[in-house]
Amino acid sequence: MPTIINSIHKYRPRGNWGQRPVKNIQKLVVHHSAAEASDNPEARLTQIMGWHLANSPAWMGLSYHYVITKNGNIYQTNNHEDLTWTDGVNWNSLGILVDGYFHAPNNNQPTSQQLESLEWLLTELATKHPEFSAGNNPLLDIVGHRDVGQTACPGDILYSKLVEIKQRINQNIKNPQPAKTPLPTINPQPVKPDATNIIYPTEQTWQKLLQATNQEHLDYLKNGLNENEVNLNLFVDNYADRINERKQAEKSPAKDTTQIKNLLNQILNLI
Ligand SMILES: [Zn+2]
Repeated sequence: MPTIINSIHKYRPRGNWGQRPVKNIQKLVVHHSAAEASDNPEARLTQIMGWHLANSPAWMGLSYHYVITKNGNIYQTNNHEDLTWTDGVNWNSLGILVDGYFHAPNNNQPTSQQLESLEWLLTELATKHPEFSAGNNPLLDIVGHRDVGQTACPGDILYSKLVEIKQRINQNIKNPQPAKTPLPTINPQPVKPDATNIIYPTEQTWQKLLQATNQEHLDYLKNGLNENEVNLNLFVDNYADRINERKQAEKSPAKDTTQIKNLLNQILNLI
């Protein structure tokens, strides 16, 4: 059975990522490295860190939460609370990289060890983390990067395997095998009230939410993300969409996205 190798923050030289409550996590996003899989896991991790540092001055280092190397090793490189960057869903996802180029022109095949580790890790994350928003609910969403961004990632070859893996996991959740040994008792962390997750339709509460957003912005900006305008735009877009979704879910009259974006932009201008 695969195990997780703890490499948390070993590839994060610039400082701390922004933080979020883990109950915000709703998606597991799978990527490929778009490079021939390396036979040297540590060297590849260092290389990916270099790519990410070069990609944005606001990134602290290797931005995936997990990396699965060619030999099937699983490295955890960031904490679940760490708010790293995946197109538009960084607020509510964990990023999992499988090393290799699973798309034309290279058309690599993931190794059997990689597929075994990926299925094991996705199952663990999807079913054994009641602290995530979906808890043990089978609806914890397993997606490819292409499902949430304009990209071919994780490549046609890995994406088709991912669809099969997801089907198996959902099937197993619906028809669980009886456990041979008693499962350990899970003591979920008490959930603290969090203004960003409680949205009431009143104007007063809406103002409170904006204040909370403001505070979160401040934490973000302290971590240097103000150096990158693209990231700020992503942040505003994503927050606005999320707030709007929540308001829709509560069947309250939703402010339209443009209005929310304007409000958030006003906050950004105030900071
Ligand atoms: Zn990707």
